[in-house]
Amino acid sequence: MRTRLHLCHLLIAGAVSIMSASSKAIPPEDGAALARAVVERHEREVRPLEKAVALAWWEANTTGKDEAFARKEEAQNRLDAALADTRRFRELEDAAAALGRSTDAGGADPLLRRQIAVLRLQYLEKQVDPELLRKMTAKSNAVEKTFNVYRAKVNGVEMTDSQVRKILKESKDPAERKAVWEGQKGVAPLVEGDLRELVKLRNESARQLGFKDYHVLMLHLAEQKQEDVLRVFDELEALTREPFRAVKAEIDASLAASYGMKPDDLRPWHYHDPFFQEAPAIYPESFDAVYRGVDIPKLCREFYAGIGLPIDTVLERSDLYERPGKSPHAFCTDIDREGDVRVLANIVANEYWMGTMLHELGHAVYSSLNIPPRVPYVLRGESHILTTEGMAMLFEKFSKSAVWLERMGVRVPDPKPLEDTGRRMRRNQLLIFAAWCQVMFRFEAAMYANPEQDLSGLWWGLVERYQMARRPEGRKAPDYASKIHIVSAPAYYHNYLLGQLFASQLHHAIAREVLRSEPAGALYNGRKEVGRFLDERVFDPGRTLSWNELTKHATGEELSPHAFAADLKSAAR
Ligand SMILES: [Zn+2]
Repeated sequence: MRTRLHLCHLLIAGAVSIMSASSKAIPPEDGAALARAVVERHEREVRPLEKAVALAWWEANTTGKDEAFARKEEAQNRLDAALADTRRFRELEDAAAALGRSTDAGGADPLLRRQIAVLRLQYLEKQVDPELLRKMTAKSNAVEKTFNVYRAKVNGVEMTDSQVRKILKESKDPAERKAVWEGQKGVAPLVEGDLRELVKLRNESARQLGFKDYHVLMLHLAEQKQEDVLRVFDELEALTREPFRAVKAEIDASLAASYGMKPDDLRPWHYHDPFFQEAPAIYPESFDAVYRGVDIPKLCREFYAGIGLPIDTVLERSDLYERPGKSPHAFCTDIDREGDVRVLANIVANEYWMGTMLHELGHAVYSSLNIPPRVPYVLRGESHILTTEGMAMLFEKFSKSAVWLERMGVRVPDPKPLEDTGRRMRRNQLLIFAAWCQVMFRFEAAMYANPEQDLSGLWWGLVERYQMARRPEGRKAPDYASKIHIVSAPAYYHNYLLGQLFASQLHHAIAREVLRSEPAGALYNGRKEVGRFLDERVFDPGRTLSWNELTKHATGEELSPHAFAADLKSAAR
């Protein structure tokens, strides 16, 4: 469950029913002609800009050179300027309105409607006063820069982010842990003022576009409604509250013993990361020893070929190992929607990178690599952020399975206890990450609804309720502002959790319809029919279907937390 942004997701698109028709009435048949012309011009003029952005991104992240970053910014600005063009947007509105009035399905085919709807959302986001847009960009850049140069200071010594993470993972000294945790939060008071102003600017932009606040706007652009997401999150919380409580009690007992403390005395700095979003390592068995010396790309190539979704061309174009200047993260990008799909990674032979590569290649197979060229350019991508994250998570989980490793021909000295540990690790991770996503989603929704409230109180109230972690006595600091996603990826986080629900539901459908076995422990190794199922049910439609239509198409049901909850139950056995 890696929290990474993917390039393809920065170009937010989707579709909804048409909100407002423009005043002048265009006959439906002219509307269809106008719509076709708008789509054609977008392909002719904007498509090269999109490819240029993708290539510039790739170059900047693989080289780290200043000139490359400057070119990336220029390319992004050219694309943004095209999407901000008010004349194009008016034409889209006119086309959408005319198609909306047309009852003649032949006169306006569904693919054309869908393309217009998707484009309309892509352009809508940029239709705010340019001066306001400029202020928002400047503010968020200022906050991101503060994050980039900030170093936690502990006893007068500056620490890098990875040093902070290492101490939180390994130190048994509670005083050291507390000092490092507080050091990590020290960025919050520095950015709080700018962040509050940014939230107000973002809300102003949303109101210019006719939305209540920025959170509502961002969800609208992603074809989601706050109340729908909230309903799923409420249901999920009811299903996971008790399993989470039980897992947390086990974790707390183990951590408290490791520090020689009582569980009641644990505070946020006793968990293994700054936000308690990852499962602390409490089991003695580890997968890393098994992965030592394993050729991870080779294992990926064999696994994906085995399920009928070969990734050789992706690996050839990818940049997989550490190099000075290169981005230390991982992402997958579809450069041209014509099959040039690449992964950036920094592989080391351990479990983390096995999971990460399975994850990124899960994105790779769900791209123009397998979405057929007959799908129009505008719709030739994943249905939604949540469906591609779900696809990545569907495969990522196998890195923690001893049985999967053995089937891949890797020698596992003592598979039984390792398999049990892997199952518990996956369960703990799902529950802990789900609780964390509850905090993030509810905080962001409430913050944009009322930025003037006591945000620190709001944050800690949510942490106590959903993560069941204790607020440090008397703490009033703006700790929420130490989470960079709130600045740089607003209203995005909930899609990771929805993606997990999609992954569970899809896995159940594969087990039921393809493997004809119980979902618990079902593996895909060597089953080409799994690839055929995914081709037909998930990849083929591209973005012609919205995320919930696709979920229904792929699994027979709308997205719900039931398969996810069932997976947690079977993992607890
Ligand atoms: Zn991902």
